[in-house]
Amino acid sequence: MLSKIIHEDYIIKAKKYMEKGDSFAIIIHSAPDGDALGSALGLFHFLTEYGKDTVTVITPNDFPAFYKWLPGAKDIVTHDKYPEFAEQLINEADVIFCLDFNEPKRIGKLAPALLKAEGRKILIDHHLNPADFCKVTISYPEISSTSEMVFRVICRMGMYDLINKKAAEAIYTGMMTDTGSFTYNSNHPEIYTIIGELIKRGIDKDQIYRNVYQVYSESRLRLMGYALYEKMVVYPKQHAALISLSNEELKRFKYVTGDTEGFVNLPLSIDGINFSTFVREDSDFVKISLRSVGDFPCNEFASKYFNGGGHKNASGGEFYGTLEEAVNVFVKGLDEFVAK
Ligand code: 5GP
Ligand code: MN
Repeated sequence: MLSKIIHEDYIIKAKKYMEKGDSFAIIIHSAPDGDALGSALGLFHFLTEYGKDTVTVITPNDFPAFYKWLPGAKDIVTHDKYPEFAEQLINEADVIFCLDFNEPKRIGKLAPALLKAEGRKILIDHHLNPADFCKVTISYPEISSTSEMVFRVICRMGMYDLINKKAAEAIYTGMMTDTGSFTYNSNHPEIYTIIGELIKRGIDKDQIYRNVYQVYSESRLRLMGYALYEKMVVYPKQHAALISLSNEELKRFKYVTGDTEGFVNLPLSIDGINFSTFVREDSDFVKISLRSVGDFPCNEFASKYFNGGGHKNASGGEFYGTLEEAVNVFVKGLDEFVAK
């Protein structure tokens, strides 16, 4: 049904570890997004259906409220809330799945526990240049979401029937959010074959869209209005735009985690703009999000100026300095990098 993108050796090894293991830890990246959560919970429900009863999803820190409806989300263990418990689970796991990240740095303070753990580690991810820290590295950047990869891995193990409705809801969420609701990285026809199969499992894809994108607070919408009206700077010559928000501004609009999700994409709706950057002051660093359409390599810009990386059209990074300095780095980068 689906083409065999993933190498057979990886499937055999992953299946063997999975069959032998009794306890499982599933780890995802800091500031988890829909794909990190969707792939992890998809795998969680599959393993549970398969009969494994010691399976835990572990995240470095909290995730946006609009993902809390995901089946199983309530049982996710957050490392910065329960550090000892999270580390113990990782330490004791027979098998550790690393989902939606390509290097230990992406899980922040959880990294030492992961690197020290003796369980068999399996990476399933779609970011470029995976580091060598797992026994099995299943990395396919051409696949648009890790959630889709989880679906493919399960199918290739011959266990398609064990994808229940809960797993299907999680997997669909990750596929939807990592493609901007199928508006980018979404031309592969098999994406729609997979969606068809998920719908057969009973998911309501329209309801999932509403659960994720139509549950915002009034203050979030006003913050978006403010960001666009007062804070967006457009650089027509470089086909670029920037939005920056300080802690003080965020507080004014009662910011909670996830409120600025998607802001970085907004300037891309301007005709002629193909590179957009969003800069947000966090507690001890400045978070940078970069998006592009077409050939502009956000990941190269992110790695050159913000010690970050990611995909060609969606990248991120962290900047250790003031918001103003981060904006200056961006403007300088634009001159150097875009006008070259
Ligand atoms: P976002 O802007 O949604 O936080 O991140 C978009 C994408 O950029 C993520 O899927 C991830 O691939 C990448 N990314 C985000 N932050 C970082 C970072 O600090 N370092 C690296 N290497 N990649 C990042
Ligand atoms: Mn992803």
